[in-house]
Amino acid sequence: KAHIVPREENGIDLLAVSPFAISVCQKLQDAGYKAFIVGGAVRDLLIGAKPKDFDVATDATPEEVKKVTRRAIIIGRRFRLVHVNKGAETIEVATFRGFAKQGVTKDEDGVITNDNVFGEQYEDAARRDFTVNAMYFDPISGDLYDYHHGLDDIRERKIRMIGDPATRYREDPVRILRAIRIAAKLGFTIDEKTAAPMHYMQTLLLSVPSARLADEFSKMVLSGSAVACMELMNRYDINIPIPLFDVLKRTFGLPFVRKGLERCDARVALGKSISTSFLFAVLLWHEMKEEVAKSTGKTPGQIYEEAAKKVADSYRWDGLQSRYVSDMAIIWKLQPRFLVRSRRAAMKLLQHPRFRAAYDFLLLRASSGDASHELADWWTAYEGATDEERLEMSKEAE
Ligand code: ATP
Ligand code: MG
Repeated sequence: KAHIVPREENGIDLLAVSPFAISVCQKLQDAGYKAFIVGGAVRDLLIGAKPKDFDVATDATPEEVKKVTRRAIIIGRRFRLVHVNKGAETIEVATFRGFAKQGVTKDEDGVITNDNVFGEQYEDAARRDFTVNAMYFDPISGDLYDYHHGLDDIRERKIRMIGDPATRYREDPVRILRAIRIAAKLGFTIDEKTAAPMHYMQTLLLSVPSARLADEFSKMVLSGSAVACMELMNRYDINIPIPLFDVLKRTFGLPFVRKGLERCDARVALGKSISTSFLFAVLLWHEMKEEVAKSTGKTPGQIYEEAAKKVADSYRWDGLQSRYVSDMAIIWKLQPRFLVRSRRAAMKLLQHPRFRAAYDFLLLRASSGDASHELADWWTAYEGATDEERLEMSKEAE
């Protein structure tokens, strides 16, 4: 049933494949199992993009995978798989999943709640979401296994659901969001039949645990295609039913938020990391300012402290881990301190461990008219100045 495309024809560059992923496949194959690189990594290799991570699919059970690989741990309940580690790299090894017979359980709405039946490779392919995500690459032979015309869709730059889209969204409504995120990331279009049920089936997202929605939301905004994701969300009129998404939707039109997302995308494009706390500080800044205006605190320090606490508290359970929340609040609380340019205050702010993030935030504010350019330029100069020059600058500013 699979269309097998040999090395000479599939054009995958083995040098772009993680040597560790190859070695995991080699070990499994040496032990007599099938082992392939699968999913997003194959898709990315075919379009010449750098895969974020490598997943392996095999007919070995998790216990058998554990036996043939070193440094492996079995994780997950709903979906058991093996993490094989080497240094900082983790390869996710999953056993082929089979069709729904007994072991896969669906609730009354048709949502998959347990997914641990092992099966054949073709079954594993059929339960994946999109055709471009259902190809298998054998890094030893170089053969590519394509079960659902994924290669054609790669060529046509199309995200197409495997099977009946409505049924597949009912099984797992998060696929609505995945279609958008992956289309945005690759610059692909969503096939018409795949796109058609998305809008009217989005109410099913209400039954998805909010932790999973928050996770998918973070993936969207940290994907490097945050702006494109939001544009597609608007175009198909899809909402993620969590408060943070509502905030983004309401504020996406503001230059500050739009520029903030563009900055994130630009950083990802340069291979730089983006800090989750910075991003959330951007998304909630508008709300923060409203709280600042309402605050009854006396000093700017108190006012910002009080407002930051209020905003942070109301989103604490929305996928915002507490360390992000406290970092986000620090970025905000440092903002009024940029206004004080006396020698002592300025030096102290410069030495603050979160100066860099707060300064980046100030630049973003200045670029969208939320802070003065003069102030931002002053701090840029101050940061680059010698100690004597700084002294001079503070004198002039006082
Ligand atoms: P990314 O580049 O963002 O990692 P990805 O396609 O690799 O994209 P993952 O979430 O890492 O996405 O999933 C790996 C693979 O598992 C997918 O390519 C797809 O084949 C399958 N998969 C993931 N989530 C689902 C889902 N909700 N339904 C069906 N198949 C899925
Ligand atoms: Mg992946």
